[in-house]
Amino acid sequence: METFYVCLTMDCENSDYWKSPGGWDMSPHAIRGFVDTLSDHGMKGNLFVVLENARRNPEAIHHAKEKGFEISLHIHTEEGGFTMGGKAVAPGQRWLTDFSYDEQVQILSQACDSWSRALGFRPMTFRAGCFCGNEDTYKALIKVGFKYGNIGGGQRNYPTYRSFWVGAPLHPYCPSEEDKLKEGRMPFLEIPCTYNPGKKTANVISHGESLVELRMGLGDTLMHMETIDAAIEYQIENGVKLKTVVSLTHDRFPYDDPNSAMHERLIAVAEYIKRAVEHKGHRWVPATFADIHDAFLKSAGAKRAGAPGDGGQKREA
Ligand SMILES: [Zn+2]
Repeated sequence: METFYVCLTMDCENSDYWKSPGGWDMSPHAIRGFVDTLSDHGMKGNLFVVLENARRNPEAIHHAKEKGFEISLHIHTEEGGFTMGGKAVAPGQRWLTDFSYDEQVQILSQACDSWSRALGFRPMTFRAGCFCGNEDTYKALIKVGFKYGNIGGGQRNYPTYRSFWVGAPLHPYCPSEEDKLKEGRMPFLEIPCTYNPGKKTANVISHGESLVELRMGLGDTLMHMETIDAAIEYQIENGVKLKTVVSLTHDRFPYDDPNSAMHERLIAVAEYIKRAVEHKGHRWVPATFADIHDAFLKSAGAKRAGAPGDGGQKREA
């Protein structure tokens, strides 16, 4: 019997920039509903929070932290709102990958500092907006002190968002310094979302395509069940060491309203993950990114104990 780490995540965005229906009023309802519903069903996960959202929703975010959720940094550089070389960067089409390594270090350090001031604690993990990032992003994150997070993974090819991940592993991995799509020895664990390995879908806005993501806001419950089954099967068949199910949603749905379709969908997906893992004879545990990283360190340690001189040695140094 093997363990599947199940982590349900929500990106908490800047409502002004994305003009989400319900506006800023929706966000705390979405966050509290997501957190409380999952807690009631024995699950947890991560919130990835942009600075403006951290400033507006400290109460809902602290509530999530008390419930065992990991609160993490989320950045969309295209929204602007930070300074570069002493000048404010306005909203526009400046993507994270448009910046050099040094600039990415600056952006991440600034964001960490402002975010920490807003919430009273430092983020331990990070997700890149629109999964836009490159090798320099990983190096900059390591420099700033991060050890795990989600820059990309999966198989997105979204030119509009500068998000290129065709060929990346579908499971947690340490990227290579030369090629973010290959497994290597960077001391950073990429934890991608769950995808259906056998099903692609076109995305009109991004002018590209991706494998079907386990993303609550798209498709329907049946599609998510299919994704969950296919992803579990794929990990078992391919002998993936660190098995995960990671879902994604946004703070734009009324998860606190028991009569809403999204509240129902959240419960259906959470419960289906449990059944699907157990049906295959395995066990699931509720997890945050921190828990998944801990499990990774333990397995790397066990591997080292059995194989002296293993390349993972540097990881914990
Ligand atoms: Zn985002």
